[in-house]
Amino acid sequence: MAVLKNFKGDLLRPMTSFKSLKKFPEIRRKSTETIQVNLGYRCNQACSHCHVDAGPNRKEQMTLTTLNLVFKYIDKWKIPILDLTGGAPELNPYFRHAVEEAVARGMHVIDRCNLTILSEIGQEELAGFLAKNGVHVVASLPCHSKTNVDRQRGAGIFELSIAGMRKLNAQGYGIAGTGLELDLVYNPQGPSLPPDSEILTEEYKQVLAEYDVLFNRLLTITNMPINRFKHQLERDGLLNGYMDMLRSGFAEQNLSKVMCRALLSVSWDGHVFDCDFNQMLDLPVGGDKQAIHLSELIDLPLSNRPIAVDTHCFGCTAGSGSSCSGALTD
Ligand code: SF4
Ligand code: SF4
Repeated sequence: MAVLKNFKGDLLRPMTSFKSLKKFPEIRRKSTETIQVNLGYRCNQACSHCHVDAGPNRKEQMTLTTLNLVFKYIDKWKIPILDLTGGAPELNPYFRHAVEEAVARGMHVIDRCNLTILSEIGQEELAGFLAKNGVHVVASLPCHSKTNVDRQRGAGIFELSIAGMRKLNAQGYGIAGTGLELDLVYNPQGPSLPPDSEILTEEYKQVLAEYDVLFNRLLTITNMPINRFKHQLERDGLLNGYMDMLRSGFAEQNLSKVMCRALLSVSWDGHVFDCDFNQMLDLPVGGDKQAIHLSELIDLPLSNRPIAVDTHCFGCTAGSGSSCSGALTD
C-alpha cells in the first residue's frame, strides 16, 4: 500500500469520510486569457496517473470544423494564449495547422508534449516545426529517476524522454538567449503533494545535466483525484485520506489564482468547460446541467460567470497550489 503524506512530508493515515469534506468555495470567471484545446485522447503512451485516460487505442480527435470554430471564438474574444493538449496533441492531423493559425494571429502557443512523441515514426520534423513557430513546449517528466518514470509511464519511457529533450535542445530549446522555452512538469509518484518547486528544480537540473539535457522551468502539479489516479487510490484504500490531505492543505491565497478563472477548456468535440479536469468529469462550464458547445458561446461573455467547482478542486488549492502552469504560490 502506498504511503500517504501531507505537503510537509508528514505521514498521514486515512481519516474522515470523503462525504464530511466542506464544500469548495464559490468562485467566478474573469476574462479568458487562455483557451486550452484538447485535440483528442489518442496518445502513444498510457500512463498510470493520466487524468484523461488517454492511450494508443483512443479514437477521439478534434475535426477541422471544430478547430475552425475555436479560431472563430479566439478572433471574437481576442484570446492571447492557445494551449494545445490531449492525449498527445501532435497526433491530431490538424495540430500543425492549429499552431500556424495561432502564430499568424500573434498568439502565444503552448504544446503539452510528452517528449516521447518526438521519437515516433512520422514525427521526425516535429522538433524543427515547434522551434520554427516559437512554440512553448511544456513537457511531462514526472521524475528525474529512470526507475520512477518507467514505473509510472512504462518501460523505456525515461530514455525516450531524454532523447526527446535532446532533439528539442538541438533546436535551441532550453538554451539561454534563444527564446525557445522548454518547461518540464513534475507530478508526485503517489498520494502526496509536490515538494517545494525551487528545491526540486535544482535537483532536476543537477541530475539531468548528467544526461546533457537542458530545460527552463520545472512546473510542479498535484495529482487530481479523478479518473485513473482516483481508481488507483480507491484500489489502495487511500482515497478518503488523500481527499482529507487536500482539504486540510487548503490555502486561501490560491483561490484567486486557480487556472479556471482565466482559462476556457474545449473538448475534442467542441464542448466547453472551466478547466481540463472538469472536462474529464463532464462538468459543463459555469455549472450548467447540460453540456454547452462552443458554438453557443460565440456571442456570450463569460466574465463573472460562476465556475463549476466540486471536491476535486481542493487539488488546485492545497499547499502551494497547482495549475497547468505549476504551483500557484511560492
Ligand atoms: S503522455 Fe500524457 S496524455 Fe499520454 S497517457 Fe501519459 S499522461 Fe496521458
Ligand atoms: S479543478 Fe478546475 S474548476 Fe476546480 S479549482 Fe481547479 S481549475 Fe478550477
